[in-house]
Amino acid sequence: MAANKEQVTQQLRKVILPAGGQDIVTAGLIRNVAACDGVVSVRLALPAEANPARDQLRAEIEAAVRELDPETKQVAVEFVADAPQEAAQSPQDAARQANPLPNVKHIVAVGAGKGGVGKSTIAVNLAVGLARLGRSVGLLDGDIYGPSVPTMLGLHEHSAAGTSQLLRPFFVHGIKTMTIGKLVEPDKALVWRGPMAHGAFQQLALQTDWGELDYLVVDLPPGTGDVPLTLAQVMPLTGAIIVCTPQLVAQDDAVRAAKMFPQLGIPVLGVVENMSYFIGDDGKEYDIFGKGGAATMAQNLGLPLLGQVPINTALRANGDAGDPRRNFEGDDQLATELMAFCKAMEAEVDKAGASQPTLSIS
Ligand code: ADP
Repeated sequence: MAANKEQVTQQLRKVILPAGGQDIVTAGLIRNVAACDGVVSVRLALPAEANPARDQLRAEIEAAVRELDPETKQVAVEFVADAPQEAAQSPQDAARQANPLPNVKHIVAVGAGKGGVGKSTIAVNLAVGLARLGRSVGLLDGDIYGPSVPTMLGLHEHSAAGTSQLLRPFFVHGIKTMTIGKLVEPDKALVWRGPMAHGAFQQLALQTDWGELDYLVVDLPPGTGDVPLTLAQVMPLTGAIIVCTPQLVAQDDAVRAAKMFPQLGIPVLGVVENMSYFIGDDGKEYDIFGKGGAATMAQNLGLPLLGQVPINTALRANGDAGDPRRNFEGDDQLATELMAFCKAMEAEVDKAGASQPTLSIS
Protein backbone atom coordinates (compact mmCIF):
# COMPACT_ATOMS: atom_id res chain seq x y z
CA MET A 1 0.00 0.00 0.00
CA ALA A 2 1.29 3.51 -0.83
CA ALA A 3 2.81 5.49 2.03
CA ASN A 4 0.64 8.07 3.75
CA LYS A 5 1.44 11.60 4.83
CA GLU A 6 2.42 10.61 8.39
CA GLN A 7 4.75 7.82 7.21
CA VAL A 8 6.42 10.15 4.71
CA THR A 9 6.88 12.84 7.37
CA GLN A 10 8.46 10.29 9.72
CA GLN A 11 10.76 9.10 6.95
CA LEU A 12 11.89 12.66 6.25
CA ARG A 13 13.56 12.59 9.69
CA LYS A 14 16.29 10.60 7.97
CA VAL A 15 17.21 13.61 5.83
CA ILE A 16 19.90 15.51 7.69
CA LEU A 17 20.80 19.13 6.95
CA PRO A 18 24.31 19.39 5.49
CA ALA A 19 25.19 22.29 7.76
CA GLY A 20 24.60 20.88 11.13
CA GLY A 21 23.35 17.57 12.39
CA GLN A 22 19.60 18.27 12.58
CA ASP A 23 17.09 16.52 10.36
CA ILE A 24 14.73 18.61 8.22
CA VAL A 25 11.65 17.74 10.32
CA THR A 26 13.23 18.55 13.68
CA ALA A 27 14.68 21.73 12.17
CA GLY A 28 11.06 22.80 11.47
CA LEU A 29 11.59 23.21 7.72
CA ILE A 30 8.62 21.15 6.51
CA ARG A 31 5.80 23.37 5.32
CA ASN A 32 3.60 20.74 3.70
CA VAL A 33 3.58 17.03 2.94
CA ALA A 34 0.94 15.43 0.72
CA ALA A 35 0.93 11.74 -0.18
CA CYS A 36 -1.70 10.06 -2.26
CA ASP A 37 -1.49 6.73 -4.07
CA GLY A 38 2.23 6.90 -4.72
CA VAL A 39 2.41 10.60 -5.56
CA VAL A 40 4.26 12.55 -2.88
CA SER A 41 4.82 16.28 -2.62
CA VAL A 42 7.04 17.92 -0.03
CA ARG A 43 7.27 21.67 0.50
CA LEU A 44 10.28 22.88 2.41
CA ALA A 45 11.21 26.30 3.75
CA LEU A 46 14.89 26.83 3.13
CA PRO A 47 16.74 30.02 4.06
CA ALA A 48 18.38 31.74 1.11
CA GLU A 49 21.91 31.13 2.43
CA ALA A 50 21.26 27.37 2.31
CA ASN A 51 20.30 27.44 -1.36
CA PRO A 52 23.33 25.52 -2.62
CA ALA A 53 22.06 22.61 -0.51
CA ARG A 54 18.80 22.39 -2.42
CA ASP A 55 19.85 19.89 -5.07
CA GLN A 56 21.40 17.59 -2.51
CA LEU A 57 18.36 17.83 -0.23
CA ARG A 58 16.01 17.21 -3.13
CA ALA A 59 17.91 14.03 -4.03
CA GLU A 60 18.00 12.86 -0.40
CA ILE A 61 14.28 13.51 0.11
CA GLU A 62 13.45 11.57 -3.04
CA ALA A 63 15.72 8.71 -1.98
CA ALA A 64 14.18 8.62 1.51
CA VAL A 65 10.65 8.51 0.13
CA ARG A 66 11.56 5.77 -2.34
CA GLU A 67 13.26 3.79 0.42
CA LEU A 68 9.95 3.90 2.30
CA ASP A 69 7.94 2.89 -0.75
CA PRO A 70 9.88 1.73 -3.83
CA GLU A 71 6.63 1.85 -5.84
CA THR A 72 6.39 5.62 -5.42
CA LYS A 73 5.37 7.11 -8.77
CA GLN A 74 6.43 10.70 -8.27
CA VAL A 75 8.21 12.81 -5.65
CA ALA A 76 7.81 16.56 -6.06
CA VAL A 77 10.04 18.71 -3.84
CA GLU A 78 9.37 22.41 -3.67
CA PHE A 79 11.42 25.00 -1.81
CA VAL A 80 9.85 28.20 -0.53
CA ALA A 81 11.35 31.23 1.13
CA ASP A 82 11.30 30.83 4.89
CA ALA A 83 7.91 31.47 6.42
CA PRO A 84 6.49 31.07 9.89
CA GLN A 85 5.45 27.49 10.76
CA GLU A 86 1.79 28.48 11.08
CA ALA A 87 1.78 29.45 7.41
CA ALA A 88 1.87 25.75 6.42
CA GLN A 89 0.06 25.47 3.10
CA SER A 90 -1.86 22.89 1.15
CA PRO A 91 -1.40 22.65 -2.65
CA GLN A 92 -4.65 24.62 -2.95
CA ASP A 93 -3.38 27.61 -0.98
CA ALA A 94 -0.74 28.34 -3.59
CA ALA A 95 -3.30 27.93 -6.40
CA ARG A 96 -5.68 30.30 -4.61
CA GLN A 97 -3.00 32.93 -4.39
CA ALA A 98 -1.97 32.56 -8.05
CA ASN A 99 -5.60 32.24 -9.26
CA PRO A 100 -4.76 31.67 -12.94
CA LEU A 101 -8.44 31.63 -14.07
CA PRO A 102 -9.84 34.80 -12.48
CA ASN A 103 -12.83 34.90 -14.85
CA VAL A 104 -14.12 31.52 -13.70
CA LYS A 105 -16.37 31.77 -10.65
CA HIS A 106 -16.43 28.13 -9.57
CA ILE A 107 -14.25 25.17 -10.48
CA VAL A 108 -15.81 21.84 -9.53
CA ALA A 109 -14.00 18.52 -9.99
CA VAL A 110 -15.84 15.25 -10.60
CA GLY A 111 -13.93 12.25 -9.30
CA ALA A 112 -14.54 8.56 -8.67
CA GLY A 113 -12.76 5.76 -6.85
CA LYS A 114 -12.60 3.62 -9.98
CA GLY A 115 -13.48 3.56 -13.66
CA GLY A 116 -16.81 2.61 -15.16
CA VAL A 117 -19.05 4.05 -12.44
CA GLY A 118 -20.35 6.80 -14.74
CA LYS A 119 -18.05 9.64 -13.67
CA SER A 120 -17.78 11.13 -17.17
CA THR A 121 -21.52 10.69 -17.72
CA ILE A 122 -22.20 12.62 -14.52
CA ALA A 123 -19.65 15.32 -15.36
CA VAL A 124 -21.09 15.82 -18.86
CA ASN A 125 -24.68 15.95 -17.61
CA LEU A 126 -23.78 18.26 -14.75
CA ALA A 127 -22.22 20.69 -17.23
CA VAL A 128 -25.16 20.51 -19.66
CA GLY A 129 -27.72 20.69 -16.82
CA LEU A 130 -26.09 23.79 -15.34
CA ALA A 131 -26.12 25.39 -18.79
CA ARG A 132 -29.85 24.62 -19.00
CA LEU A 133 -30.24 26.49 -15.71
CA GLY A 134 -28.81 29.53 -17.48
CA ARG A 135 -25.22 29.31 -16.23
CA SER A 136 -22.18 29.78 -18.45
CA VAL A 137 -20.33 26.50 -18.21
CA GLY A 138 -17.08 24.92 -19.33
CA LEU A 139 -16.22 21.22 -19.19
CA LEU A 140 -12.55 20.29 -18.95
CA ASP A 141 -11.91 16.67 -19.85
CA GLY A 142 -9.18 16.03 -17.31
CA ASP A 143 -9.37 12.29 -17.87
CA ILE A 144 -6.21 12.49 -19.95
CA TYR A 145 -5.67 8.71 -19.87
CA GLY A 146 -9.09 7.87 -21.30
CA PRO A 147 -10.97 10.92 -22.56
CA SER A 148 -14.71 10.25 -23.03
CA VAL A 149 -15.80 13.77 -23.86
CA PRO A 150 -15.25 13.55 -27.66
CA THR A 151 -17.79 10.72 -27.85
CA MET A 152 -20.17 11.91 -25.14
CA LEU A 153 -20.42 15.41 -26.64
CA GLY A 154 -20.25 14.29 -30.28
CA LEU A 155 -17.07 16.18 -31.20
CA HIS A 156 -16.15 13.93 -34.14
CA GLU A 157 -16.83 16.56 -36.79
CA HIS A 158 -15.07 19.31 -34.86
CA SER A 159 -11.40 20.24 -35.26
CA ALA A 160 -9.16 21.87 -32.70
CA ALA A 161 -8.29 25.51 -33.34
CA GLY A 162 -6.67 28.42 -31.58
CA THR A 163 -3.75 30.82 -31.56
CA SER A 164 -0.16 29.91 -30.75
CA GLN A 165 -0.91 30.74 -27.11
CA LEU A 166 -4.48 29.67 -26.48
CA LEU A 167 -6.73 26.81 -27.55
CA ARG A 168 -10.25 27.74 -28.56
CA PRO A 169 -12.75 25.57 -26.65
CA PHE A 170 -15.39 23.65 -28.59
CA PHE A 171 -18.87 25.09 -28.11
CA VAL A 172 -21.49 22.34 -28.11
CA HIS A 173 -24.82 21.66 -26.36
CA GLY A 174 -24.63 25.08 -24.68
CA ILE A 175 -21.23 24.52 -23.04
CA LYS A 176 -17.56 25.16 -23.81
CA THR A 177 -15.28 22.16 -23.64
CA MET A 178 -11.69 21.06 -24.13
CA THR A 179 -10.28 17.55 -24.29
CA ILE A 180 -6.94 15.93 -25.04
CA GLY A 181 -8.98 13.48 -27.14
CA LYS A 182 -9.18 16.11 -29.92
CA LEU A 183 -5.48 17.01 -29.75
CA VAL A 184 -3.90 13.57 -30.14
CA GLU A 185 -4.77 10.73 -32.47
CA PRO A 186 -7.96 9.13 -31.15
CA ASP A 187 -6.73 5.53 -31.26
CA LYS A 188 -3.32 6.27 -29.74
CA ALA A 189 -2.92 4.85 -26.24
CA LEU A 190 -2.52 7.72 -23.82
CA VAL A 191 0.34 6.66 -21.60
CA TRP A 192 1.61 9.54 -19.53
CA ARG A 193 4.38 9.42 -16.97
CA GLY A 194 3.95 11.65 -13.92
CA PRO A 195 5.58 14.87 -15.18
CA MET A 196 4.00 14.46 -18.65
CA ALA A 197 0.56 14.01 -17.12
CA HIS A 198 1.18 17.14 -15.05
CA GLY A 199 2.14 19.12 -18.15
CA ALA A 200 -0.70 17.83 -20.32
CA PHE A 201 -3.34 18.57 -17.71
CA GLN A 202 -1.92 21.99 -16.91
CA GLN A 203 -1.86 22.99 -20.56
CA LEU A 204 -5.41 21.85 -21.19
CA ALA A 205 -6.64 23.65 -18.10
CA LEU A 206 -4.77 26.92 -18.37
CA GLN A 207 -4.14 27.36 -22.10
CA THR A 208 -7.77 27.10 -23.11
CA ASP A 209 -9.54 30.37 -23.73
CA TRP A 210 -12.43 29.74 -21.32
CA GLY A 211 -13.54 33.37 -21.14
CA GLU A 212 -16.03 34.20 -18.38
CA LEU A 213 -17.63 31.18 -16.76
CA ASP A 214 -19.95 30.55 -13.84
CA TYR A 215 -18.68 26.97 -13.65
CA LEU A 216 -15.77 24.98 -14.94
CA VAL A 217 -16.55 21.29 -14.41
CA VAL A 218 -13.45 19.07 -14.44
CA ASP A 219 -13.82 15.38 -15.29
CA LEU A 220 -10.90 13.73 -13.46
CA PRO A 221 -9.32 10.35 -14.21
CA PRO A 222 -10.62 7.60 -11.89
CA GLY A 223 -8.74 6.92 -8.67
CA THR A 224 -6.26 8.95 -6.72
CA GLY A 225 -3.31 9.53 -9.05
CA ASP A 226 -1.19 12.46 -10.05
CA VAL A 227 -3.81 14.48 -11.96
CA PRO A 228 -5.77 15.48 -8.83
CA LEU A 229 -2.51 16.67 -7.25
CA THR A 230 -1.72 18.76 -10.34
CA LEU A 231 -5.28 20.08 -10.36
CA ALA A 232 -4.94 21.15 -6.73
CA GLN A 233 -1.61 22.82 -7.45
CA VAL A 234 -2.67 24.79 -10.50
CA MET A 235 -6.17 26.08 -9.90
CA PRO A 236 -8.41 27.04 -7.00
CA LEU A 237 -11.44 24.78 -6.63
CA THR A 238 -14.76 25.41 -4.98
CA GLY A 239 -15.00 21.68 -4.37
CA ALA A 240 -15.17 18.13 -5.65
CA ILE A 241 -17.99 15.66 -6.25
CA ILE A 242 -17.56 11.91 -5.83
CA VAL A 243 -19.46 9.56 -8.15
CA CYS A 244 -20.16 6.10 -6.77
CA THR A 245 -22.35 3.13 -7.61
CA PRO A 246 -24.38 1.53 -4.82
CA GLN A 247 -22.45 -1.77 -4.47
CA LEU A 248 -20.34 -2.28 -1.38
CA VAL A 249 -17.31 -3.21 -3.51
CA ALA A 250 -17.33 0.22 -5.14
CA GLN A 251 -17.38 2.07 -1.87
CA ASP A 252 -13.89 1.48 -0.46
CA ASP A 253 -12.41 3.14 -3.54
CA ALA A 254 -14.92 5.96 -3.33
CA VAL A 255 -14.07 6.57 0.33
CA ARG A 256 -10.39 6.76 -0.61
CA ALA A 257 -11.19 9.32 -3.31
CA ALA A 258 -13.39 11.29 -0.89
CA LYS A 259 -10.53 11.43 1.64
CA MET A 260 -7.95 12.46 -0.95
CA PHE A 261 -9.52 15.83 -1.80
CA PRO A 262 -9.39 17.36 1.71
CA GLN A 263 -5.72 16.30 1.92
CA LEU A 264 -5.14 18.46 -1.15
CA GLY A 265 -7.07 21.34 0.43
CA ILE A 266 -10.19 20.76 -1.72
CA PRO A 267 -13.56 20.46 0.06
CA VAL A 268 -15.88 17.63 -1.00
CA LEU A 269 -19.29 19.01 -1.95
CA GLY A 270 -21.04 15.65 -1.88
CA VAL A 271 -21.60 12.21 -3.35
CA VAL A 272 -23.72 11.21 -6.36
CA GLU A 273 -25.05 7.69 -6.53
CA ASN A 274 -25.08 6.56 -10.15
CA MET A 275 -26.85 3.46 -11.48
CA SER A 276 -28.93 3.69 -8.33
CA TYR A 277 -31.91 1.71 -9.54
CA PHE A 278 -33.66 0.61 -12.73
CA ILE A 279 -37.25 1.14 -13.79
CA GLY A 280 -38.53 -1.79 -15.85
CA ASP A 281 -41.10 -1.74 -18.64
CA ASP A 282 -43.60 -2.72 -15.97
CA GLY A 283 -42.98 0.63 -14.29
CA LYS A 284 -41.53 -1.05 -11.18
CA GLU A 285 -38.28 0.04 -9.57
CA TYR A 286 -35.55 -2.64 -9.44
CA ASP A 287 -32.57 -2.08 -7.12
CA ILE A 288 -30.08 -4.03 -9.20
CA PHE A 289 -26.97 -2.89 -7.35
CA GLY A 290 -28.70 -2.25 -4.02
CA LYS A 291 -29.97 1.32 -4.06
CA GLY A 292 -28.76 3.51 -1.21
CA GLY A 293 -25.25 2.08 -0.75
CA ALA A 294 -23.60 5.34 -1.75
CA ALA A 295 -26.11 7.24 0.38
CA THR A 296 -24.98 5.28 3.45
CA MET A 297 -21.38 5.89 2.53
CA ALA A 298 -22.03 9.63 2.19
CA GLN A 299 -23.77 9.65 5.56
CA ASN A 300 -20.86 7.82 7.20
CA LEU A 301 -18.47 10.41 5.80
CA GLY A 302 -20.75 13.30 6.81
CA LEU A 303 -21.18 14.33 3.17
CA PRO A 304 -24.40 15.41 1.41
CA LEU A 305 -25.97 13.01 -1.10
CA LEU A 306 -26.41 15.19 -4.17
CA GLY A 307 -28.44 12.80 -6.30
CA GLN A 308 -29.42 9.27 -7.25
CA VAL A 309 -29.32 8.71 -10.99
CA PRO A 310 -31.12 5.60 -12.28
CA ILE A 311 -29.80 3.04 -14.74
CA ASN A 312 -31.35 4.28 -17.91
CA THR A 313 -30.95 3.01 -21.46
CA ALA A 314 -31.48 6.48 -22.91
CA LEU A 315 -28.66 7.90 -20.78
CA ARG A 316 -26.27 5.32 -22.23
CA ALA A 317 -27.58 5.73 -25.78
CA ASN A 318 -27.44 9.54 -25.66
CA GLY A 319 -23.88 9.28 -24.32
CA ASP A 320 -22.85 7.05 -27.20
CA ALA A 321 -24.64 9.34 -29.66
CA GLY A 322 -22.98 12.45 -28.25
CA ASP A 323 -26.23 14.22 -27.47
CA PRO A 324 -26.62 14.76 -23.71
CA ARG A 325 -29.35 17.38 -24.19
CA ARG A 326 -31.81 14.59 -24.89
CA ASN A 327 -31.37 13.36 -21.31
CA PHE A 328 -33.14 16.50 -20.18
CA GLU A 329 -35.91 16.30 -22.77
CA GLY A 330 -36.97 12.67 -22.77
CA ASP A 331 -37.76 10.24 -19.96
CA ASP A 332 -39.24 12.31 -17.11
CA GLN A 333 -37.60 10.45 -14.27
CA LEU A 334 -34.13 10.78 -15.73
CA ALA A 335 -34.52 14.49 -16.49
CA THR A 336 -35.97 15.11 -13.01
CA GLU A 337 -33.13 13.27 -11.24
CA LEU A 338 -30.43 14.96 -13.29
CA MET A 339 -31.88 18.43 -12.75
CA ALA A 340 -32.32 17.77 -9.01
CA PHE A 341 -28.67 16.76 -8.85
CA CYS A 342 -27.53 19.94 -10.65
CA LYS A 343 -29.56 22.09 -8.27
CA ALA A 344 -28.30 20.24 -5.19
CA MET A 345 -24.77 20.77 -6.42
CA GLU A 346 -25.39 24.50 -6.87
CA ALA A 347 -26.80 24.73 -3.35
CA GLU A 348 -23.61 23.14 -1.97
CA VAL A 349 -21.47 25.48 -4.07
CA ASP A 350 -23.36 28.44 -2.58
CA LYS A 351 -22.72 27.12 0.94
CA ALA A 352 -19.05 26.49 0.18
CA GLY A 353 -18.75 29.96 -1.36
CA ALA A 354 -20.27 31.53 1.76
CA SER A 355 -17.74 29.82 4.02
CA GLN A 356 -14.66 30.48 1.88
CA PRO A 357 -12.70 33.73 1.93
CA THR A 358 -13.07 35.59 -1.36
CA LEU A 359 -10.64 37.96 -3.00
CA SER A 360 -12.08 40.92 -4.82
CA ILE A 361 -9.81 42.60 -7.31
CA SER A 362 -10.78 46.10 -8.34
P1 ADP B 1 -16.48 6.42 -16.08
O1 ADP B 1 -16.24 7.84 -16.50
O2 ADP B 1 -16.72 6.28 -14.60
O3 ADP B 1 -15.45 5.45 -16.58
P2 ADP B 1 -18.65 6.50 -18.00
O4 ADP B 1 -19.36 7.76 -17.66
O5 ADP B 1 -17.72 6.49 -19.17
O6 ADP B 1 -17.87 5.94 -16.72
O7 ADP B 1 -19.75 5.36 -18.14
C1 ADP B 1 -19.45 4.04 -18.52
C2 ADP B 1 -20.58 3.51 -19.38
O8 ADP B 1 -21.75 3.38 -18.58
C3 ADP B 1 -20.96 4.43 -20.53
O9 ADP B 1 -21.32 3.67 -21.63
C4 ADP B 1 -22.17 5.18 -20.01
O10 ADP B 1 -23.05 5.60 -21.05
C5 ADP B 1 -22.83 4.12 -19.15
N1 ADP B 1 -23.60 4.69 -18.02
C6 ADP B 1 -23.15 5.52 -17.07
N2 ADP B 1 -24.14 5.81 -16.18
C7 ADP B 1 -25.24 5.16 -16.63
C8 ADP B 1 -26.60 5.05 -16.16
N3 ADP B 1 -27.00 5.68 -15.07
N4 ADP B 1 -27.46 4.30 -16.90
C9 ADP B 1 -27.06 3.65 -18.02
N5 ADP B 1 -25.81 3.70 -18.50
C10 ADP B 1 -24.89 4.43 -17.81
